Amino acid sequence: MMGDLKVLRTELGDRPFYDSVSQCNRCGYCESVCPTYVLTGKESYSGRGRNQLVRLMLEGKLEDPKAAEDALSTCLLCGACTAACYARVATVDHVLEARRSLRNGHLPLIAGVLMKLLADRRPLLDRMLKIAYALKRTGLPAWAARMGLLKLAGLDALQNADSHVHELPRRFLSDIRSGRPRPAAPKWFYLTLCGPNYLYPKVGEATLAALEETLGEGEALENACCGLLHFNYGDLNLSRSLARRNIEIYERRRAQTGLEGPVVGDCSSCVAHLKSYPQLFLDDPLWLPRAEAFSKNVKDSVESFSLEEAAALKKRRPQGEKVTYHDSCRARNAMGLARNQRQILKAVLGERFVELPQAEWCCGGAGAYSFVHPELSEEVLKSKISNIASTQAGIVLTSSTSCLVQLAYGLKKYYPSCRVMHFTEFLAQTDA
Ligand code: SF4
Ligand code: SF4
Repeated sequence: MMGDLKVLRTELGDRPFYDSVSQCNRCGYCESVCPTYVLTGKESYSGRGRNQLVRLMLEGKLEDPKAAEDALSTCLLCGACTAACYARVATVDHVLEARRSLRNGHLPLIAGVLMKLLADRRPLLDRMLKIAYALKRTGLPAWAARMGLLKLAGLDALQNADSHVHELPRRFLSDIRSGRPRPAAPKWFYLTLCGPNYLYPKVGEATLAALEETLGEGEALENACCGLLHFNYGDLNLSRSLARRNIEIYERRRAQTGLEGPVVGDCSSCVAHLKSYPQLFLDDPLWLPRAEAFSKNVKDSVESFSLEEAAALKKRRPQGEKVTYHDSCRARNAMGLARNQRQILKAVLGERFVELPQAEWCCGGAGAYSFVHPELSEEVLKSKISNIASTQAGIVLTSSTSCLVQLAYGLKKYYPSCRVMHFTEFLAQTDA
């Protein structure tokens, strides 16, 4: 009765889906770290509760599909439950697969159109986004939101998205990079991911500058969307086809250049998905080894710089504000990346680096979560901003596009004396 993923690649090895779900022994250790459980006190909003619902679905014993849909759709997919779980139960994968099954191929119209455009019609998507951005600059969507027109048209999520995103770039990263010569022997590849491309080209430029300064010349690949949106919303075939395309682009350029170095991305959510490509091909003996060879070379920007480079950067910024660090859930919980960036920041900043209380807690961004579940998201966000305020930092750093959008929105609203930056923007700038 469930969807397409018969076998899951978990931290304890490959498991049939039902076995993976059954690994939850209902101990409840995950409850105190689950933001939606802590906020609501509802058992069905915890890791334990959600795993139990998925198990009931698999056994055909689910009594209230509507309540199950609500409990599964409100999961932030933050993975804090798995990080706290002795059995490393893969709750996020269970929730995603159950959501796909409940949706049964039916998608919100906007998500469906966006996924198709991302997969097959990138030039058209680019043009449409430029028109939409220009429209936003006129203030028309904000006016329509104030008049309640978007809500009236059933476009609540669009209205919420509009209120979250304040600054939009005039040029995409791919436009800025277009026409640049490719080095004959690159030391690294850079994946142009959708967040840095469409929302934060300055992040992409900073990552590229930092990589060039530290590792030498490299190449920005003309890659496709990573397919995370398609994976999360249930079109696994499209997600696989995007994965194949990216693997082929990488293999081709690697063969042409002899590159041995890393393939770097600077949105932790997408990078975690790129690293999990093998999951998509567990029953495909042709593509599985290719996916594994690709994924093992993919690196998040937060793990792509060493302490030696930090020492050189230290000379460049002796003064400035306090800086703190918010962990993207996918960086910390899915990829275990929390230490390197802190070591670098401590080396660069000394006492100016202040640890953020509950840095590992989700900010409530979680992809489109803040647009779809604005009330719950806002509560999670308030707790994050209050922790940031307690550090008195002027800058908070992070590594996911979704966190950048959510924290920029939350800081502007609740703590405007602080600003959010991507980790590599901070590394690449010369004064702070
Ligand atoms: S997911 Fe893990 S921590 Fe949570 S109840 Fe199940 S076994 Fe316990
Ligand atoms: S992924 Fe996050 S929100 Fe979902 S059950 Fe686990 S801890 Fe709770």
